[in-house]
Amino acid sequence: MIERFDHFMARANAAYYAARDPFADFVTAPEISQVFGEIIGGWARIAWEMMGAPRDIMLVEAGPGSGVLMADALRAARVMPGFHRALDVHLVETSEPLAALQSQALSSRGVPLTWHSHWETIPQGPVIIIANEFFDALPVAHYIYGARGWYERLIGLSPEGQLVFGLAGEPSGEIEMHAEPGTILEVGFAAREMMTKIAAHLSHVPGALLAIDYGPASFQFGASLQAVKNHRFADPLRDPGEADLTAYIDFAGLKQAAQKAGAVTYGPISQGLFLQRLGIFERAQKLSQNADAQQKQAIVHALDRLARPGPCNGERASMAELFKVLAVTSPGLSKLPGFEADCT
Ligand code: SAH
Repeated sequence: MIERFDHFMARANAAYYAARDPFADFVTAPEISQVFGEIIGGWARIAWEMMGAPRDIMLVEAGPGSGVLMADALRAARVMPGFHRALDVHLVETSEPLAALQSQALSSRGVPLTWHSHWETIPQGPVIIIANEFFDALPVAHYIYGARGWYERLIGLSPEGQLVFGLAGEPSGEIEMHAEPGTILEVGFAAREMMTKIAAHLSHVPGALLAIDYGPASFQFGASLQAVKNHRFADPLRDPGEADLTAYIDFAGLKQAAQKAGAVTYGPISQGLFLQRLGIFERAQKLSQNADAQQKQAIVHALDRLARPGPCNGERASMAELFKVLAVTSPGLSKLPGFEADCT
């Protein structure tokens, strides 16, 4: 069997999300604190107001996981009845078990819900899109620089029947960059394609996308692919479908794709800065007022993890710095909350 690495990764992740509870293997920001989803709900409300408060607005989440982010965002949206009434919620999800979890979490929230297995069925119309740790689950291709250019990484079987990495016999003619021999180039074609579709939508109708994910702000060579199982790193070729395969987001590539399709981009800025600008610590203080000492400590601990820069809790880098936030909007929409101070 010879297969392109990105095709292998797409199949492995489809099997993984269809059969496993990902939250047994890794933890995401909305699972750490309810404040994360509430802040995003507040951001969506302000974006809606800046769009002229349309009577109907689609709130789309790509890769909604357990549904907790959307549930927290909808709770925050209730504060503004006009916004809540305008909401038509759409969830883009490929995994049936996760869609069932989302349905449990969201069906009593008083908003219309529609599931989609891909972006193409999202109707035209004003839209706010949220994607937290969605783009990082999309497949990446790898190329290695050799004698005559970039050779694509393939997956094959060793004589013992183990999955092993291999290389295409001929270089790919499509990549023009030069590099030192042995350099690895990771390309997220699927993420760029998804961004192009979203940005093309935003170029026609008012709307905004908020993408939160991890990766460097500017282009870098190297492979960032990682497999995670039971909160530990695993071998990406071992037991496909048993571990979550992710790669850094190439924010520079995503921005380029969005701009080419006619949308405007802001950021990326660090998650910590974004959450602080949207008042996460003030919100935490409010939440703490009715909490006992133990709950207060839990709130402080959770928010430090999400929003305070610097190493904390033994993590190599805090989520506040590792994760970044990118906004993509329709042309003509003014700067959205969190990005006022930044250049496009
Ligand atoms: N946003 C959630 C979950 C992140 S895990 C959170 O922050 O907790 C990634 C999510 O994306 C899962 O819901 C997974 O099933 C979904 N997903 C992965 N690949 C997808 C694809 N190609 N299309 C749609 N959803 C996908």
